[in-house]
Amino acid sequence: MPNLTDVGSIRALLNRHDFTFSKSLGQNFLINPGVCPRMADACAESHGEGVIEIGPGIGVLTQELAQRFRRVVCYELDSRLLPVLRETLADFDNVTVRNEDVLKSDLPALIADAFDGMRVSVCANLPYYITSPILMFLLENRFPLSNITVMVQKEAAERICAVPGSRLAGALTAAVHYYAEPEKLFCVSRGSFMPAPNVDSAVIRLTVRKKPPVEVADEAYFFRLIAAAFGQRRKTAANSISAGMHLPKAAVEQALQALDMDKNVRAETFTLEDFAAVSAVLQRMTAQ
Ligand code: SAM
Repeated sequence: MPNLTDVGSIRALLNRHDFTFSKSLGQNFLINPGVCPRMADACAESHGEGVIEIGPGIGVLTQELAQRFRRVVCYELDSRLLPVLRETLADFDNVTVRNEDVLKSDLPALIADAFDGMRVSVCANLPYYITSPILMFLLENRFPLSNITVMVQKEAAERICAVPGSRLAGALTAAVHYYAEPEKLFCVSRGSFMPAPNVDSAVIRLTVRKKPPVEVADEAYFFRLIAAAFGQRRKTAANSISAGMHLPKAAVEQALQALDMDKNVRAETFTLEDFAAVSAVLQRMTAQ
């Protein structure tokens, strides 16, 4: 099995395949030998059946997943990496690589056909330019996943794992907590990658909830309200919600008052329960 954390071997491999890094595809490959085994262990902790990897690159994490899971399916958008992966993953017969954009993939069909009733997780060193779209794609569609163990930018990890209602919380915090229980596992310095990015990273694990922690009658309205509330961070929640949802500010303030909430409150202080309550009251009031 080729050593994919040795810089000399990686350079030789990439030269042999005439490969140059694409910045626009977020190609920063992991070269720190301690990181991938730890990520794969964290993802496989509860079981080791099926795993979907997004963006295998040259296969450094894939090799670790292949040793812990019964079946591995990878989505790699860059077709230039397919011959590289054929070489680096030649020792494994439980890995399939699909040359597709994960955001356009039919995951329910894949989970039903390729994994044959196994419990399935996601593991990835995510391309940072589409971290939020990928996480929301995986969560909003309620794909039957056990956990999502991913490397993201350190700041994104802190925001995602912040407690809703605390200073660091944002729209992504609220959305992720609605669908999953996030935890920050460990930090990874920028020097762990080739080429090194300008930011540090962290590995997080989202354990997908079977049921949301709050009851919401109209999820589309609830998420529109959350997006609007955080739309203008320096304004009060009432101002932001009114602007983002095209509602009179008086109506939003009335909804807050009906819930005994201060009309000058800011969105980052809202818990998921607050968002659910404001959403229900506001929708009822403005529908009349
Ligand atoms: N897993 C490898 C590692 O840790 O070294 C590579 C990670 S690199 C940060 C991200 C990978 O995602 C790249 O290989 C890139 O080509 C791929 N990628 C980017 N956008 C993608 C998309 N929409 N769907 C699937 N793969 C994508």
